[in-house]
Amino acid sequence: KKYVYLFSEGNKDMRNLLGGKGANLAEMTGIGLPVPQGFTVTTEACTQYYEDGKMISDDIKGQIVEHVKKLEEITGRTLGDPKNPLLVSVRSGARISMPGMMDTVLNLGLNDEVAKEFAATTGNERFVYDSYRRFIQMFADVVMGFPKSDFEHKFDAIKEEKGVEFDTELTAEDLKEVVAVYKEAYKAHAGVDFPQDPIEQLLAAVEAVFGSWNNDRAITYRRLNDIPGSWGTAVNVQQMVYGNRSDKSGTGVAFTRNPATGENKLFGEYLMNAQGEDVVAGIRTPQPIATLNEVMPECYEQFQKICHILEDHYKDMQDMEFTIEDGKLFMLQTRNGKRTAQAALKIAVDMVDEGMINEQEALLKVEPKQLDQLLHPNFDKEDYKAAKAVATGLAASPGAATGHIYFTAEDVQEAHANGVQDMILVRNETSPEDIEGMNLAKGILTVRGGMTSHAAVVARGMGTCCVAGCGVLRVSEDKKTLTLPDGTVLTEGDYVSLNGSTGEVFAQKIKTVPAAISGDFETFMAWADKERKLLVRTNADTPRDAKQAATFGAEGIGLCRTEHMFFEEERIFNFRRMITAEDVETRKEALEKILPYQRGDFEELFKAMDGYSVNIRFLDPPLHEFLPHTDEEIKPLAESLGMTFEALKERVESLKEFNPMMGHRGCRLAVTYPEIAEMQTRAVIEAAINVTKETGHTVTPEIMIPLVGDVKELKYVKNVVVKTADKLIAESGLDMKYEVGTMIEIPRAAITADKIATEAEFFSFGTNDLTQMTFGFSRDDAAKFLGDYYSKNIYEHDPFATVDQEGVGELMKIASEKGRSTRPDIRLGICGEHGGDPKTVEFCHKIGLTYVSCSPYRVPIARLAAAQAAV
Ligand code: PEP
Ligand code: MG
Repeated sequence: KKYVYLFSEGNKDMRNLLGGKGANLAEMTGIGLPVPQGFTVTTEACTQYYEDGKMISDDIKGQIVEHVKKLEEITGRTLGDPKNPLLVSVRSGARISMPGMMDTVLNLGLNDEVAKEFAATTGNERFVYDSYRRFIQMFADVVMGFPKSDFEHKFDAIKEEKGVEFDTELTAEDLKEVVAVYKEAYKAHAGVDFPQDPIEQLLAAVEAVFGSWNNDRAITYRRLNDIPGSWGTAVNVQQMVYGNRSDKSGTGVAFTRNPATGENKLFGEYLMNAQGEDVVAGIRTPQPIATLNEVMPECYEQFQKICHILEDHYKDMQDMEFTIEDGKLFMLQTRNGKRTAQAALKIAVDMVDEGMINEQEALLKVEPKQLDQLLHPNFDKEDYKAAKAVATGLAASPGAATGHIYFTAEDVQEAHANGVQDMILVRNETSPEDIEGMNLAKGILTVRGGMTSHAAVVARGMGTCCVAGCGVLRVSEDKKTLTLPDGTVLTEGDYVSLNGSTGEVFAQKIKTVPAAISGDFETFMAWADKERKLLVRTNADTPRDAKQAATFGAEGIGLCRTEHMFFEEERIFNFRRMITAEDVETRKEALEKILPYQRGDFEELFKAMDGYSVNIRFLDPPLHEFLPHTDEEIKPLAESLGMTFEALKERVESLKEFNPMMGHRGCRLAVTYPEIAEMQTRAVIEAAINVTKETGHTVTPEIMIPLVGDVKELKYVKNVVVKTADKLIAESGLDMKYEVGTMIEIPRAAITADKIATEAEFFSFGTNDLTQMTFGFSRDDAAKFLGDYYSKNIYEHDPFATVDQEGVGELMKIASEKGRSTRPDIRLGICGEHGGDPKTVEFCHKIGLTYVSCSPYRVPIARLAAAQAAV
């Protein structure tokens, strides 16, 4: 099997085998762009490495060595030859780019002898020893895993001793000293000398890249981004070009369009006399790309041309790395650029206007989950006007955030675990270890680093508001303090607000307001709506949620959890009277009190949805969530029920269940107490009658019976509903219709769906319970152990977030087919949390559901996911 490919042997369609970076390097080679040549070790070699028990087989080693020979022929240089050395970079490249997850080794091939001769032949000792010290440091860190800070401290110490501020001020002699110190440090850690054999260096680096595929950071990133662990990473070995060779050399990163706003203008930064890592590491402040035009006009012009070629070729915004060596431009990487949701929409709409792509292609350019960023708060205008910024950094990732400051990612995680909602992570700079904390934070503020620093790139990917490189602030991560320019010191928990669109930092709380759909967003969503086959409804329990969802484009309510309508004090009191009542009379009396609340809420829901379907699910309270907990709660309840305190306490005890999720809930409650279903039917039908009379639009309510496992229990409850409803409708004199259906959330219901469909006019998949019951683990407790399943690669994602297609999905398919066999036009929907998950939406499209229903903020996400499934 072929495990290694020269760049000239690949192309962009070989991404699965060569990884994104490798495939694009091959593609750029193919279209004649200036790319330093090299080869790619395939992702299959990585999976083979793991199959062989973390060993690179002799076959693969042999192929690597053979390709080194080929590269030597292409470049006319030889690895390890002191007179004419080939030096290479070694970089990882998975199918999908994973920023900060994998590492790079530059200048590989240097050793003492090569360095000495190379310095002599190039006549540039400084450059050679600068490259060598970088190589040792990266090798020690990336390949061997020795602490980076150890080397950094040693470097800083020498800089201080020499009295220089910037790396570029160190002389050749200084750098030789750094190399000597590094080699000693290496030996102290490794117990052996720094390896001098370039092939040994190369194989160790390749192995380190393979190994890093399964480090904790990579696993976390994959889980957050739904990337399967089985993919593996490729390794790219590429001839070095040197951005640190002279003052006419440099290196940079750029995007063909602005990744924060989408503006069609080259965007990026570069550093002269520097090597790759310097730009992203945020050590020296890079220059904006436009100024390259003044420093090196020919290079700038050539680069602009290449940008056009690449964008036109890939039909997407590109994110590129380049290096200039002694005035000559080289492309080191190109890929479709990560962007904010705002930028993604603008770019998609602009590219259609420019005639580069069509509407369907545009729909695929925006990640559905990204839209979330646009639906979240902005600052309240008045509050914002009144606030005064204390500092301004780089507008690294747009949006507004307000919250309590924490100085480490772990502290953010801990605050979250303690129930704090709004955390702002404040750091000098972030690193890949911070990823979990960054994911939980509402905003990120860093003191150092540019627009392409780790914090900026990751925040944009997550859609988290970020202000980066705010150099006027001082952060002490040890003391946990943030010092403002005027000397004020903020400590953990203090309020800060960030404007990620302007870079402003405020030392105060600023009110935030929800966003609305307009402009490019509106245009784009209209395209999505044209394509999709699935309808999108919302889960809403209150008129407020329903109205919010309607502004986001919801086409009806797919689930109204009526037990959620009782959180307010007076309501919960009467609800408790109902569930603790010991006889029918008392229960009926409590139900009479509840009826008007329900009827009023339903009227509002029908009005808010203005002609769209409204699905009302009958009570499904896991009792333990509603029983009175304290004596203070029991006392007044006992009084109003005419019971003694002791008697009621006993009654409450007797209602407690060992396993409430599998207890007396759903339709079981209505089987025991049909008067509850009767009251709810009255509330729904009377509300529908009232609204029909008031608005003139006929309301057709859907009544949904939960937790059905057997057609007979559905039939029993349905009889109660029909008897009550038909009588009310007849009395009203209206010609009103209503439907009775059920949820499919118990495996038995899925398997007997043909029978259930004889009674049910519609099905809605309750995938929360269906997942719980199919896996046999509790939806309330599973999070406690699922972490172990992810870290041990048993599950790749949360089965309560994305439908498990193999098991739960199979039950959905069976139920859909069986349901249709009895009732061909049966309406099928989903209302579990999965209904707003893009992968699940795609699956629902495939199995032919009529609609998905999800929480209001996920409605636009589901609309786009449904469109993507259809194009
Ligand atoms: C479900 O089980 O998927 C569902 C929507 O119902 P609930 O979450 O209220 O149990
Ligand atoms: Mg349920």
